[in-house]
Amino acid sequence: MKRLICLAILCALLWGCAAQEASVSKTDFVMDTVMTYQFWGSDAQAAADEIHALLRDLENTWSATAEDSTLSALNLGAASLTSEQQALLDTAEALSVRTGGAFDPKLHTVISAWGFLSDDHRIPTQSELTDALNADLWNLGAIVKGYAGQQAVEKLKDLHIDRAILNLGGNIQTYGEKPDGTPWQIGIQDPNGGDPVGIVSVTGTTAVVTSGDYQRYFEKDGIRYHHILDPKTGYPADSGLTSVTVICQNGTVADALSTALYVMGLEEATKFWQNSNDFEAVFISQSGQVYATEGVVLSGCTYEVIYREN
Ligand code: AMP
Ligand code: MG
Repeated sequence: MKRLICLAILCALLWGCAAQEASVSKTDFVMDTVMTYQFWGSDAQAAADEIHALLRDLENTWSATAEDSTLSALNLGAASLTSEQQALLDTAEALSVRTGGAFDPKLHTVISAWGFLSDDHRIPTQSELTDALNADLWNLGAIVKGYAGQQAVEKLKDLHIDRAILNLGGNIQTYGEKPDGTPWQIGIQDPNGGDPVGIVSVTGTTAVVTSGDYQRYFEKDGIRYHHILDPKTGYPADSGLTSVTVICQNGTVADALSTALYVMGLEEATKFWQNSNDFEAVFISQSGQVYATEGVVLSGCTYEVIYREN
């Protein structure tokens, strides 16, 4: 329920930004989450239908739970992949290398051992985790929504759409300029619920993707076990962060990096950002302190700026 309320707040913020130009909006439940999107342009209705079909197709392909998905076949060694599907796996592997393994697209058995795929949550034994870490089966849960946003952008280019905004379960993808020419305003969710912690302003086609320990978790004996796992241990990452938002031109990269930077923690993530030039980030620590890299346009909160050079 908390997630739904936060999503509603986020949607209200986004939709509140829309100017008078005619648009088409749609809400879907795909990839186990609520997705909302809005399109402006002469063929907005056709675009809404196309994007709906695209999201369903990506779900059918990359679902970690459906037995008849391409991903399930891949994990059984029985998939024949299209070049586009193979390209996503290659991208995922490259991003795993780039992040020193903090983003790991082969954690399927570990994720399953915690019950995050079935919602039948449990704490695995150490030997189960050791075996699961060696299983190396694919799971693209940390990247597929960002990839969906990226794919949507490619489609919209062919569909006579002037501008669009997609909220893919909290992963935001903008396309083109906002109708009134002002920046898109994206709320960063407060990990404790309620009003957004701050507002990020972005222009043009941009992905704003958040990974947070509050998004999916269970509690046992007063301890919270969340869904972002440290590939070194198989345990929920305990990096001192509670949320990471990545702002990037490429949705696929944004999604992989938000997960990876969460696992790294603030210090390592800062160094990673200083050695990169394709994204900006906002971090919220477990104590509630907000940090933003110097290229972020953030309002509505007090925060510490992370500079490229110290
Ligand atoms: P996200 O919300 O994008 O950070 O993705 C988190 C989801 O990706 C989890 O629910 C798991 O299914 C999976 N996952 C968890 N930890 C990792 C990791 N370190 N690398 C890749 N995928 C992960
Ligand atoms: Mg991610």
